[in-house]
Amino acid sequence: MSTYSFLRGVGKKALDGVSGADAAFESMELLGAAAGLDRTALLLKKDEEAPEQVAAKFYSFTERRLKGEPLQYIIGTWDFCGFSYTVGPGVLIPRPETEELAFLCEAAIKKNAYKVVYDLCAGTGCIGLTLARLCPEIEVRLFEKYPKALSYLKKNVPEALSRRVRVIEADVLKPPRHKLPLPDLIVSNPPYIESAALPGLQKEVLSEPLTALDGGDDGLTFYRAIAAHWLPLLPPGGFAAFECGETQAEAVSELMKPFGETETLRDFYGNERFVTLSR
Ligand code: GLN
Repeated sequence: MSTYSFLRGVGKKALDGVSGADAAFESMELLGAAAGLDRTALLLKKDEEAPEQVAAKFYSFTERRLKGEPLQYIIGTWDFCGFSYTVGPGVLIPRPETEELAFLCEAAIKKNAYKVVYDLCAGTGCIGLTLARLCPEIEVRLFEKYPKALSYLKKNVPEALSRRVRVIEADVLKPPRHKLPLPDLIVSNPPYIESAALPGLQKEVLSEPLTALDGGDDGLTFYRAIAAHWLPLLPPGGFAAFECGETQAEAVSELMKPFGETETLRDFYGNERFVTLSR
């Protein structure tokens, strides 16, 4: 038998060699997931013996992590803007910088009393669903193409939001086929990595679906399609906001300019990460 604090120490030591990992943090997260306990409960129980099954589960989680599986896929849920979303193989893991995109949309929705929001290439749905939670007046349409991602997306729509949120199977590269309320705001974190750069990504990132990362030869395929097929749906006074790669803001902004006034914004790492459009 081992105490929770002993297990945490073993995990930290084992994970110390994993590049890019904060071993202490990840060990705590994996132990919490194995035990079904939050951080506070783990700290309170640190000198208690952990049940055998918890220890066994923790060791198997740690081994998976050592083989390069992303922490978030092992845990099965991840926080975004303070809300928890189901994640796993086949869907992009929500990133902290994308939280800034959600918050800037929240501000635009509240300032302009927008009613209808489209989230294109929705993945887990973290952006659109967070907006639905933060803005009780809006309706949200989540567009996603891939069946695996759609399965997580559907799991992430709680009953309480089902009246205002619709999941729509759609390829954003093609014009919309559905009869829908038109959007006041369009948000998207589309795949934007240049195809040639994909093989050089970190092992954990390459465990994520390439379809969520691959933005074509110059990384801009999705922004072009969105400009061609989706931005014309925005009314005057409407708004759009995009995440992009740190060298792409200028190019994305050029694509959006025919539709109104654009602005580029930096994320908290200082990278030019977002482009907004006021129609
Ligand atoms: N930000 C992600 C990454 O760096 C990419 C997500 C995307 O292509 N939309 O891995």
